Amino acid sequence: MSRNYDVIVLGVGSMGSATCYFLAKQGYKVLGLEQFDIPHDQGSHSGQSRIIRKAYFEHPDYVPLLKRAYENWKEIEAATGSQIYFPTGLLYAGKPDDILIRGVRESATKYKLKVDSLTHAELNDRFPQFQIPENYDILFEPEAGFVTPERAILNYVEQAIKNGAHIHTKAKTLAWEKVDEIIRVKTAEETYTGKKLIITAGAWSGTLIPGLSSQLKVTRQVIGWVNPNEFKSFEIGQFPCWMIDDEIQNGMYYGFPILPAGKFGAPIGLKVALHYPGIVSDPEHVNRIPSKEDEGDLIDALNKYLPGGYSSTHVLKTCLYTNTPDENFIIDFLPDYNQQVVFAAGFSGHGFKFISVVGEIMADLAMKGKTELPIQFLSVDRLNNYPEPT
Ligand SMILES: Cc1cc2nc3c(=O)[nH]c(=O)nc-3n(C[C@H](O)[C@H](O)[C@H](O)COP(=O)(O)OP(=O)(O)OC[C@H]3O[C@@H](n4cnc5c(N)ncnc54)[C@H](O)[C@@H]3O)c2cc1C
Repeated sequence: MSRNYDVIVLGVGSMGSATCYFLAKQGYKVLGLEQFDIPHDQGSHSGQSRIIRKAYFEHPDYVPLLKRAYENWKEIEAATGSQIYFPTGLLYAGKPDDILIRGVRESATKYKLKVDSLTHAELNDRFPQFQIPENYDILFEPEAGFVTPERAILNYVEQAIKNGAHIHTKAKTLAWEKVDEIIRVKTAEETYTGKKLIITAGAWSGTLIPGLSSQLKVTRQVIGWVNPNEFKSFEIGQFPCWMIDDEIQNGMYYGFPILPAGKFGAPIGLKVALHYPGIVSDPEHVNRIPSKEDEGDLIDALNKYLPGGYSSTHVLKTCLYTNTPDENFIIDFLPDYNQQVVFAAGFSGHGFKFISVVGEIMADLAMKGKTELPIQFLSVDRLNNYPEPT
């Protein structure tokens, strides 16, 4: 088998899977190297569901990318006949000048997105499962919902392989280098060569990208699935996704409707988590055992906002965020490699919904040297103290 490729993708998780698909679909000779299985639960993509929304509170500049991401989710669904995006609607709540409420309103106004304001009485008619403090505003984005991460990754990788990509699992990249105009990538078994290199290594990006480790903080995040008092009123179809900017706790609690195990797989129950960077961790040595404190925070949030939402804990799991200093992604060429090396990293706990557009962007940057999509705000230059590669 040839070991020479047009392009090599390091890390076939969320961003890497979609990147391999877009490259293979365009006829390039692609190699994807993944250190674990596809998918797996050691990085950032496990856990059944990821929220997708357009009225982006983090920054309105993400909205054009989200519009493209929604289109591209439809495209992969049509190619595979497999549903990935589930529009359950998303309920937002928080004090009027909290970042969540201010940011959703700003993006919705700027891009004329459909976001409804609900009174507490309207909320009670529509979703009596919630108990929201009187001083919080309530917004509802009907086209928001969730996407299924493991299924999305599998579908992208399956389609990449069908289009000719070579994808190797249990193939950890140990090192890469540029020799003359060629990129050489070493695993324990082989050395491969490529004209271009794409690095989509998630929590391990700092070890593969010269100079980036100081900009990326990997944190351990705990997610819970619980049994409510009764299942019916929290099931998909009855109950939306939700995000609540708590007035005391840093960050936002969020959750999903209960998904039927027969269609979505494990875990069973009502999923809840806190969106806020957790304990800083080394991805090779993460403490994956959730603590009583992790569990207690989630139970407190459920008791406060979803009376009836908690009767017992079913399972707690850990997952990893890779945070940049400003919590915006980094998508760029690696300086000093003559546009031969592109990377996407630092998705800061909100990247999954974008994989369908990031895959397209990475393929275009690597093979055409540019993208038509507006990603200037994600350039590495904004992080002023980024050191030169050594
Ligand atoms: C608890 C939790 C909840 C989240 N909720 C949401 C949400 O609701 N909505 C949303 O949009 N986003 C959400 N996210 C964020 C989103 O899941 C991540 O931003 C996204 O998965 C990051 O993708 P990635 O490709 O960078 O990382 P990954 O998916 O982890 O992929 C990186 C891959 O690179 C591989 N790799 C690394 N080093 C090597 C090497 N040396 N050789 C070979 N392979 C290597 C890894 O094994 C891995 O498979 C959440 C994340 C977590 C942890």
